[in-house]
Amino acid sequence: MTAHEPIQNLIMDIVDNCNLGCPFCLCDYAQTRTTHMMSEAALRAAVRLACFTTEGSFWFSCLHEPTLHPHLTAFIEPVPHACRSKLLYTTNLAKRMPGAYFQMLASSGMHHVNLEQFHADWKWRSYAKPMKLLAKFELECFQSG
Ligand code: SF4
Repeated sequence: MTAHEPIQNLIMDIVDNCNLGCPFCLCDYAQTRTTHMMSEAALRAAVRLACFTTEGSFWFSCLHEPTLHPHLTAFIEPVPHACRSKLLYTTNLAKRMPGAYFQMLASSGMHHVNLEQFHADWKWRSYAKPMKLLAKFELECFQSG
């Protein structure tokens, strides 16, 4: 008999840089001059495994800031809707993003997004606007079914 088990965690980073310089960060960006981006070909190869992972265990980011990738939202599209519940990423919300970004997040079907809120100069106000936008679009998605 053959047993098939889902992948417990599939962790990747679509960029290798961050837009904040927290002094307690695990990564030292002092020598980082260029942000390297994951290619679409690499992304498409990785997302073939999305459906075989457990819920909320396919990380689009772990150590770095995924909103630095200009194609972040486009990278979610190749993942079949039935498997979007496997996806998550972590963001610091420090980059100003357009309303369309939050609309996409709300309707993406992703499992969740982790928010980093541990910066020494953290101010709720800087998070309030993007959080309200996300809540607004989530409500609209919920109401439209
Ligand atoms: S936001 Fe996170 S990844 Fe970026 S510098 Fe701070 S701790 Fe590091």
